[in-house]
Amino acid sequence: MGYNVTRMFRVAEEFFTSLGLKEMPTEFWEESMLVKPDDREVVCHASAWDFYNRKDFRIKQCTTVTMEQLFTVHHEMGHIQYYLQYKDQPVGYRRGANPGFHEAIGDVMSLSVSTPKHLREINLLESVTSDMAFLPFGYLIDLWRWGVFSGSTPPEKYNSDWWYLRTKYQGICPPTRRTEEHFDPGAKYHIPGNTPYIRKVLEAGSSKPWSEVLQEAIGTDKMNATSLMKYFEPIIKWLEEQNVNETLGWPEFNWVPPIPDGYPEDIGNAKLQEHQKSSNVDFRIFTVSTIILLIYPDKNTDELHAKQFLEEYNSTAEQVWNTYTEASWKYNTDINEANKEDMVRKNLQ
Ligand SMILES: [Zn+2]
Repeated sequence: MGYNVTRMFRVAEEFFTSLGLKEMPTEFWEESMLVKPDDREVVCHASAWDFYNRKDFRIKQCTTVTMEQLFTVHHEMGHIQYYLQYKDQPVGYRRGANPGFHEAIGDVMSLSVSTPKHLREINLLESVTSDMAFLPFGYLIDLWRWGVFSGSTPPEKYNSDWWYLRTKYQGICPPTRRTEEHFDPGAKYHIPGNTPYIRKVLEAGSSKPWSEVLQEAIGTDKMNATSLMKYFEPIIKWLEEQNVNETLGWPEFNWVPPIPDGYPEDIGNAKLQEHQKSSNVDFRIFTVSTIILLIYPDKNTDELHAKQFLEEYNSTAEQVWNTYTEASWKYNTDINEANKEDMVRKNLQ
């Protein structure tokens, strides 16, 4: 089929531009890391980066030529598209209308890409994987996270509630006994990374409440699963027929396989890794604005001054965020002690 990694990114880009969205800028092609380098250690988890200077936007992905990775390319490029569209907002508003919007842009593209029609157009109709298997997992990640944030899942139940949901919604149980000494949710990138699972919408960034953005985009401010159900209706119908008289779900949530005879007790009891949050962007905004207020206490006395203040704040924030993001990119694409120290230092500045 003549597919290689660059072609995959070009195919994704063409899909976006065909919808009237933006091309990837020159800097994107020059600075992104699209394949795994063989001369150094890198963080391979695919991610899309905004450098807050309105020109650098990059993807870091250890891309291989598979169908699944083609969807990931679209997903990551969806983030870049969002960054591009809201780049002229003040830095504080350069986020999705809500975190789900950011994830959704690329996923909408992935869904459209996986239609047989489009796959035929790009000469790729072989096997179409279903996103359906992901849904219970995506759902339970947020259920678990919501339990943690609301306090209904206290720290001493982090791991058991995680496995309760994994078994309840996915029918999966751990092969060995897990306790609160373990923190299995942390093994999923999105948990410690705190990653939450058109055009006008994208340009607004987070400058308006997401419900308003949704209203303008699709004429309703309510989110529900109706369209998702409609999309999957054929397979739901088919499954209902197949499952007549079957037990639905996995009623025994607490079932775990018996431990084999002579299995050493201490296997899998590794101590919990310390989880450290590497950056706290909100705190930085707060710090920067406080400092500016201290230096220029009279700057917000009238509208002109307020505007000036915001502009100064914005360019300072852009610089600070850009410096940290550059250092973080450097570490993530070349893992070594020096780069790590530099990143930590820039985070503290
Ligand atoms: Zn994403």
